[in-house]
Amino acid sequence: MGYMDSKIERIVLSHDKIVSKCHDLGMKITNDYKDKRPILVGLLKGCIPFMSELIKHIDCDMEMDFLEVSSYNGTSSTGLVTITKDIKTDVKNRHVIIVEDIVDTGYTLKEVMNLFKYKGALSCEIAALLDKPSGRKTDLVTPKYVCETIGPGFVVGFGLDYDQLYRNLDYVGILKKEVYS
Ligand code: 5GP
Repeated sequence: MGYMDSKIERIVLSHDKIVSKCHDLGMKITNDYKDKRPILVGLLKGCIPFMSELIKHIDCDMEMDFLEVSSYNGTSSTGLVTITKDIKTDVKNRHVIIVEDIVDTGYTLKEVMNLFKYKGALSCEIAALLDKPSGRKTDLVTPKYVCETIGPGFVVGFGLDYDQLYRNLDYVGILKKEVYS
């Protein structure tokens, strides 16, 4: 057991499962977007491991860009979203797939989707490593491509942090209680 593993109480989504689900999602996206040249817009920083795995399995023309918003402090959502790094690509008349680590309340993605619609995107769908429907506070956000649906509880790993740490775990898990204190 490695140093990082010793901080984890329980695995929620193994690395093997992430890779096999990304394969399935990549084939779906390939099928849905061939000839559409979609722009995958990753939400920094949590999207990085998921996005880099997902794109390996997409077999059609696609572009990448990144957006950074701040909306989250500690372990509960605030509902406030500000753009701290904007995309460089013009999304007007383009198909956008937002790539996110986890959808919880949905507030972040609601704001980001509004932004892309305002900028004239033809379509806007969500790809998320994890979906936590129990936390949802808006019915306007439903991720189309999801690796795993999970119950309530705070998870880390594969991009997801606690106080900026644990993003480098290659699976998703629940932290041991002593780590919080
Ligand atoms: P939402 O706006 O959907 O409530 O929040 C989305 C963001 O909240 C995610 O991108 C993530 O940064 C954070 N978040 C929500 N649930 C969790 C969780 O269980 N673990 C971690 N590490 N972050 C979470």
